[in-house]
Amino acid sequence: MKDLKTISLTVDEEVWMIDVEFLQSSWKCIWGNGCKGINQEPDPEAGLGCCSVGAQMLDVEEAMLITAIGRSLPSEYFQNHLAAKDGVLNSKNTATRLERNACIFLNHPDFVGGAGCALHLAAISEGERPMDYKPSVCWQLPLKVDRSDVQPILRPWSRSDWGDGGDSIGWCCSEKAEAPESFTGEQPVFISLAAELTALVGESAYAELAQQLTKLETNL
Ligand code: SF4
Repeated sequence: MKDLKTISLTVDEEVWMIDVEFLQSSWKCIWGNGCKGINQEPDPEAGLGCCSVGAQMLDVEEAMLITAIGRSLPSEYFQNHLAAKDGVLNSKNTATRLERNACIFLNHPDFVGGAGCALHLAAISEGERPMDYKPSVCWQLPLKVDRSDVQPILRPWSRSDWGDGGDSIGWCCSEKAEAPESFTGEQPVFISLAAELTALVGESAYAELAQQLTKLETNL
């Protein structure tokens, strides 16, 4: 892991290290606007984004929730609704299963109901928050709470998180050196991903985080 500039933040009586550079950066998801996906061969036209692998389930409760949502998702939002009758998770119930080389919930560009995540589309159409329909790893991306060290670190996914030392992916949108096109947002990440960060750390910790990062920015 590269040397990170961090600040500390107390989250549920636990001290987390926060990657300042990324949270102050202009990263944004560019799915459909140049995202090359995470397959070994970059392919912006395929529209697979980071859905070419199944979404890992956080725990048994999440697996049950996603299974239930998958059963009730209206077919107009869900290209693979027929395939989903056989279930939406893999045989171990640890991740969403693949259909047409991607997560079963991914609608491909040929789907009349709209390309992209069926869970996301359904949530928006029903006036709900996508994060309430999607597996945690999906709405948290590219944020990752790394617990491999003594203190948890909140940082973006990096190439090395994808296994094989990162060789298995052809493009990593959260690595600025190789994906400058993803660092074109109009707001810093701690503002644009405020809802996701609040869900991760809680309201009071997010307020503290935003205050610390704003202060750092104004002192630049
Ligand atoms: S998070 Fe990155 S890889 Fe995933 S869809 Fe967005 S830009 Fe593409």
